[in-house]
Formats: sequence, structure tokens, C-alpha cells
Amino acid sequence: MSTDAAITGGCLCGAVRYRVTGEVGPISVCHCGQCRRAHGYLGAYTDAPTESIAITGAERLTWYRSSDQAERGFCSVCGSVMFWKPAHGRHISFSAGSIDQPSGLVIDRHIYVADRADYETIDPDAPGHWPQADRP
Ligand SMILES: [Zn+2]
Ligand SMILES: [Zn+2]
Repeated sequence: MSTDAAITGGCLCGAVRYRVTGEVGPISVCHCGQCRRAHGYLGAYTDAPTESIAITGAERLTWYRSSDQAERGFCSVCGSVMFWKPAHGRHISFSAGSIDQPSGLVIDRHIYVADRADYETIDPDAPGHWPQADRP
């Protein structure tokens, strides 16, 4: 399920807020090692076209280049990891945890399941559980 209602969200302290207009896709839960360290466990994101996200308090965001492919944006006041932005792309991902409730969104897939931590007890063969992010 996706929604075309306006989505709003923000960090833990409220210094950084955003509003997304237009369609927002379902949520992907990411089991990769980078999300694990950045989020404390799992990363969960949805995304939207860059031009449809309006950020307030953006001067409080710090961008960390976590790989050749992307940067992660977090609030420099409270540390909430909010954004994942590809180096080359027209979309920006924002963390599911930062979205105001009710969101109207659903989780539709688990990605990078092969990279999960050894303490995770999920079934890697369950529907919607993909070894790599790019599996169709
Ligand atoms: Zn904050
Ligand atoms: Zn990840």
C-alpha cells in the first residue's frame, strides 16, 4: 500500500521537520550492517522524489557519507538518523521511525536479509525477505 496523503515527520528533538507531498511508497526494512550501526538495529525507510520533500531546520542536519553510493542525514542536536540520499538519484529516502503517526503506510519488504546480525531470528525465506536490495 502507498499513500498520496501528505506525510510529515521529524527528529526526536523537533529541530528538523519535513513534509512530503505526492505519493510515498511502502516501507522497506533494511538488515544491512550500515543501517544496524546508524540506527542501533534495523533501518526502515520509504522514499519520495527529492523535489517533493520540504525540510525545515535543514541547517541542523549533518550529512555523513556512509558509502560511495549515499549519504545519511542526521539531526546534529539529537542524533536521529532521518535521511538516506543517493549520490546519484532523484529520490531521497526518509526513515520510517521519523514519520508522524498515523502514517497510512505498510512494510512490504525486508532487504539485505543476508547481512542480518547473528542475533536476528527472522526467516530469510519468508515472503518479502530479499537477500539483496536489488532483487525484483
Ligand atoms: Zn533533533
Ligand atoms: Zn541498510
